[in-house]
Amino acid sequence: MKLKKKKELMSWKETWNTNKRLLQLLYTQRPKMLGICILMDIWNALTPYVGIYLSALIIEELAGSRNPDTLLRLVLTTLFSAALIALAGAFLNRLQAVENAGFYYYSRKLLDDKLMDMDFCILDETETNSALTTILQNQGGGGWGMGRAFNLINDLISSLFSLFGGIALTVTLFTSRVPDSAGNMTFLNSPLFLLPLLAVMLAVIYLAPALSNKSDSYYAFNSGTHNLANRLFSHFGFLGYQNQLAADMRMYRQDIICEKYNSDKTSTFSSKGPFAGLARGPMGLYAAASAAVSGILTGVIYVFVCLKAWAGAFGIGMMTQYIGAITRFATGLSSLISVTGQIRINSTFLKQIFDFLDHPNIMYQGSLTIEKRNDRQYEIEFRDVSFRYPGSEQYALRHVNMKFRVGQRLAVVGPNGSGKTTFIKLLCRLYDPTEGTILLNGFDIRKYDYREYLSIFSVVFQDFALTDMPLGENVAAAGTYNRELAQSCLIKAGFESRLKELPKGMDTYLKKTLDEDGVDMSGGESQKIALARALYKDSPFIVLDEPTTALDPIAEAEIYSKFNEIIEDKTAIYISHRLSSCKFCDEILVFDKGGVVQQGSHEALVSDAAGKYHALWYAQAQYYAESNAAG
Ligand code: ADP
Repeated sequence: MKLKKKKELMSWKETWNTNKRLLQLLYTQRPKMLGICILMDIWNALTPYVGIYLSALIIEELAGSRNPDTLLRLVLTTLFSAALIALAGAFLNRLQAVENAGFYYYSRKLLDDKLMDMDFCILDETETNSALTTILQNQGGGGWGMGRAFNLINDLISSLFSLFGGIALTVTLFTSRVPDSAGNMTFLNSPLFLLPLLAVMLAVIYLAPALSNKSDSYYAFNSGTHNLANRLFSHFGFLGYQNQLAADMRMYRQDIICEKYNSDKTSTFSSKGPFAGLARGPMGLYAAASAAVSGILTGVIYVFVCLKAWAGAFGIGMMTQYIGAITRFATGLSSLISVTGQIRINSTFLKQIFDFLDHPNIMYQGSLTIEKRNDRQYEIEFRDVSFRYPGSEQYALRHVNMKFRVGQRLAVVGPNGSGKTTFIKLLCRLYDPTEGTILLNGFDIRKYDYREYLSIFSVVFQDFALTDMPLGENVAAAGTYNRELAQSCLIKAGFESRLKELPKGMDTYLKKTLDEDGVDMSGGESQKIALARALYKDSPFIVLDEPTTALDPIAEAEIYSKFNEIIEDKTAIYISHRLSSCKFCDEILVFDKGGVVQQGSHEALVSDAAGKYHALWYAQAQYYAESNAAG
C-alpha cells in the first residue's frame, strides 16, 4: 500500500479561525466546562513552581544562615501549600471530570441535530454519507476531530502557563551578576553573551515544531488509508457478533473471508503494515530529532546556570530553583511545540466537522401553518409533476396529474421501478418536484412549515424501523403515552393474540439489547407494530407502502377484512404488488415507466383488456390458477 509522503497543512490563520470557532461555540454552549478546564490547565501548569520556589528557599537557608525559626516557617509553609494545592487540585479535577464527561455526547449531538435538520434529499446523497463516515472514522480511528481539538487547546494553555511560570522563576538567572572577584568569568555579565543563547532558542523554536509536524503529518494525511482499513476492520472484525448473520456465516463459511481480511500481515494495522513501517522509519526519526533539538536548548541553559553558579553569581538554593524551573520550562516548550503542530493538523479534521455542520439546506422552508380541521377535509393535488433524482438524467416520474378525494382509499400499483415509491417520497416532501407543483388545499406544499406538513401523514415505509425500546413506546413514538389508545391500535393492526402472550405486555422491550426479557419480533409482527404506530399517530392521511408483505396469508386476509374499520375516516394511499389486495380500494392508480397510465376502479380497469392493469391482473391470476391446479 502506497502512503502519502507530502503534507498539505492548513494555514496558521485558518488554523486559528477554526479553533477560535470551537472556543466560541463552547463559550456560548458549554461555558462552565470551558471555564473549569481552563482553570485546571492554569492550576496544573503553575502549582509545581510553588514547590520549586519553596524548596529552593529551604536549601538556600540550609546552605546559608541555617536559622531554625526561618527553617521551621519555610517547612511548614511548604507542607501547608503542598496540602492545599493537592486538595484544591483534586476538587478541580472532580469538577472537570464531571463537566468533561458529557463532551463526547455533546459533540455527537451536534452531528445528530444536523442530520435531523438536513433536507432528506441531502441526507440521501452519497457525499453526505461519505462526509459523515469520514468524520466518525477519523474520530474513532485516529482520534482526530472535536474532542482532540479541545484537549489540544487545553494542552496549549497548560504549556503556555508552564512557560510563564518557568520564565518568572528564571528572570533573576539573567539579571544576577557574577562578582568582579570572579576574574575572566565576568564575561557572563555581558549582554552579548545572551546573543548565542537567543540564537539557539530561536533555532530550536523553529526546528523542533517543524520536525515534529513532519512526523505527525505522515499519519494525519494518510487518514484516508487508515479510515479504509478501519472500515474493513469494523466490518469484517465484527460480522460474527451479528445474530441475523449467524446462519449464513455457517452455511457459507464466511469466517474464511473475514480471516483473510483480518490476518493479512501486510494489512494496515499489522506490525508489517505501512503505518508501522513509517513509525520505524521517517516518522520515528523526525519525532526523535524534534525531541533532541528541544533538548539542546535545555542543555545550553543548564551550562549557563552551572557557569554562573560556579562564578559565584548565586548560591546552591537558587541553582536548584533555576534547574527545577528550567526543567519545567523545557517540558512546557516541547509540549507547546508538539501541541501547536498537532492543533494545525487536527484543524483539517475539525474543519471537516464544521463544513458538515454548515452544509446548507436547499429546499424552500415555508412557514404557513396547517389549518387544524376536525372534518379532515384536506385535499392534495399533483399538478403536472415530473421528477428526476439529484444527479440522475432519467425522469423517475413524468407529468403526474392526480387529486386525492378526502376519505378515499387509493391504491398505487405498477411494475418495479415504475415510480410508486418516488410518488410517495414527493408526497411526503422528502424531495421537491423537478417540475410541476404539489398542492395542499390549493397551496404549494413548499409554503407550509415542513414539520407541520409532515404531521398530516402517517406512513409505514417498506423499510420501516422500530427501536429496541418497549412496545408501547414504539407504538406511540413517545416515552409517555395513552396506553389504552396504543393497545387498541395494536389490536386493530392484528397484534391482539401476540400481545396477550407477552409477559410484560406493552412494557415488553423489542429485542434483548436493553432488557434481557426483551422479545425478538418476527417480520410480520414488526409490520403489525409499525401499522399500529401509524394508526396511533392518527393523521388525516395514512400511507402504506407494501404493508402486508411480511404477513402470512391469514393475517393479511384478516387485516384487509377490517381495513375500513382500521382506516376510519382517513384518506388512505396504499402501494401494493398484490393486486388482489387492492380490489377494495375506491380508486387504483397504475404506474408504468414513471407515469400514471391508468386510473379507475378495479372493475373498470380489469375490463380494459388493452390496459396495463389487465395485463398485471391476469399475470398474477394465472399464477394463482396454475398453483391451484398444481396443488
Ligand atoms: P417503484 O417503487 O415503483 O419500484 P421507485 O419509485 O423506487 O419505483 O423508482 C423509480 C425510478 O427511480 C427507478 O428507475 C429507480 O431506479 C429510480 N430511483 C429510485 N431511487 C433513486 C435514487 N435514490 N436515486 C436515483 N434514482 C432512483
